[in-house]
Amino acid sequence: MDNIVIQTTPKDNVGIIANPSGLKKGTVVLNGIVLLEDIPMAHKVALISFEKDDTIIRYGQTIGYAKISIAKGSWINENNMNLPQPPDLNEITYIKKPLSTIEQLEGYTFQGYKNADGSAGTKNVLGITTSVQCVAGITDFICQKIKKELLPLYPNVDDIVVFNHSYGCGIAIDAPGAIVPIRTIQHIAQNPNFGGEIMIIGLGCEKLRPERLLPNGQLPSESSILYLQDESFEGFGDMVEGIMQMAEKHLQKLNQRKRTTCPASDLVVGMQCGGSDAFSGLTGNPASGFAADLIVRAGGTVFFSEVTEVRDAIHLLIPRAIDETVADALKKEMAWYDNYLQKGSADRSANTTPGNKGGGLSNIVEKSLGSVVKSGTSPIVDVISPGEKIRKKGLNFVATPSSDFVCGTLQLAAGMNIHVFITGRGTPYGLNMVPVIKVSSNSKLSNRWHDLIDFDAGPIAFGKKTIEEMGWELFHLILEIASGTKKVSTDKLGIYNDLVLFNPGPLT
Ligand code: CA
Repeated sequence: MDNIVIQTTPKDNVGIIANPSGLKKGTVVLNGIVLLEDIPMAHKVALISFEKDDTIIRYGQTIGYAKISIAKGSWINENNMNLPQPPDLNEITYIKKPLSTIEQLEGYTFQGYKNADGSAGTKNVLGITTSVQCVAGITDFICQKIKKELLPLYPNVDDIVVFNHSYGCGIAIDAPGAIVPIRTIQHIAQNPNFGGEIMIIGLGCEKLRPERLLPNGQLPSESSILYLQDESFEGFGDMVEGIMQMAEKHLQKLNQRKRTTCPASDLVVGMQCGGSDAFSGLTGNPASGFAADLIVRAGGTVFFSEVTEVRDAIHLLIPRAIDETVADALKKEMAWYDNYLQKGSADRSANTTPGNKGGGLSNIVEKSLGSVVKSGTSPIVDVISPGEKIRKKGLNFVATPSSDFVCGTLQLAAGMNIHVFITGRGTPYGLNMVPVIKVSSNSKLSNRWHDLIDFDAGPIAFGKKTIEEMGWELFHLILEIASGTKKVSTDKLGIYNDLVLFNPGPLT
C-alpha cells in the first residue's frame, strides 16, 4: 500500500495518516516530508514546522495552538497542542442569505406503517411507557410474558418495548429542568413506531402523574393508563392479569397495521456519532452528510444533535440557519449548555474520551469540526430543545448531550424513525425502538466487527469510492432498512442499549 496522508483543505498544515498500521519513522510522505517518529493510523503529522503558539489547521479551521515548537514530520496530538477558546456566541452575527434552489428528488419511497397523525413507522412495536421506576420489576416481568404468550398470536407486530427509567418520584418536579425528562417520556410514547397505541403503567402515588404523559389534550382511558395501586388488584397475579388484558387490546390494533408505500418524505433520520476517530470527519460523517442532503431533497427530515460536539463549530452552522429566529435558537441552546456545564464545574473539554484521543482526535475542536459534517449542507429549518418533538420537515438541530444513549433517547422523543450512527473506534450500540444503521469510519473496524457494522465508509479514505457514491449507497440502505427488507446488525443479534433520560433537574 502507498503511504497515504490526507489533507482536508489546502490550508491544512497537518495531515492524517490513513494507512491501517500507521507509518514508521523515516517514511517519506507528501512533498518529501520525512516522518520523525512512528505515527499511528488516523493521527496527525506536521506538514510544516511550528513555533510555539503557531496555529494548527485542519478542515481549514484552527484546531489548536502549538504548545512547544514542533518540527515538520512530527506527530501532533493532545500533548503538544493547546485548546482554542470556543467561538464567542455574542460575536457571531447572522446574515440572511438568499436560499439557493435545491433540486428536489422525486419518486423515492419505502414500505412503512402509515399512522393517523401523518407520521410513518419503520417497525410495528407495542410500546409500554412507565411513569416511575417503582413499576420496573413488574413491567420487565410482563415484557417477557407478553413476548412468550401474546406476541406469537399477533404476527404483524414486530416486538414489544418497555420504557423503564429512573425518573418519576424523588424528584423536584417543579424545578425548571424537570420539563426535559417529563416531555421526553411523553413524546417517546408518541414515536411513529408505536402507531399511536399508548399504554402507560404507573404506581399510583408518584409525583409524575401518568396523565401528564398522554398526548396533550388526550383524556385518560382504561386502555391508556393502569395503576398498580388500583384497589381492584389483589396482589401480583391480578396486576399481571390486568396488564396482559390491556396489552392485548393494543396488540389487536397494532396487528392490523400493514406496510404500505410511503414517500421518502416520511423518513425522520437521526444522525449521531459515538466512539469517533480522526477518520470520522473524512469518511463516515461526510458520507452520512451526503445521505442527509438526499433525504432532505426527497422532502424528508434529518436531525443532528450533540451540543458539545457542535459548540466549537457553531460559527459554521449559524450562517446555515434559515432565518434569524433559528440562528438565535441555535445560540440559545449553546448558551444553555455552556451554563449547564459551568454549574457542574465542567467545560466542553470534558467531552473527548481516551478512545477519541487514541483515534487521533486531539481535542473537542477537532472532534466538532468533523462531527458537524454529518449534517450535510442543507439549511437548518428549526431547533428543537431537549425532549421536544420536531415541527418541520427538513434539517433540524435537536439539542441533546453527546452521550450516545441520552442523545438516542432524545432523538426518539423528537420523532426519529431511523437512526444513522457513525463510529470509528466501534460500539455495539443499538436501540430496540428503531433500526440503528452503524457506519464505520474505517475498514479496519468493519473487517474486525463484520457482524456489528452495517456500512463501511472506509473506502473513501483510500480513494476507492467517493463521498457521493457512498452517500447514495447509504441513502438506498436507509430506504431498505426502513422498509424492513434488510435488517441492521443489532436487530439480527437482538442486542440493545437502555434508553436513558436527560434530567438536568435535582433529585430530592
Ligand atoms: Ca454521541
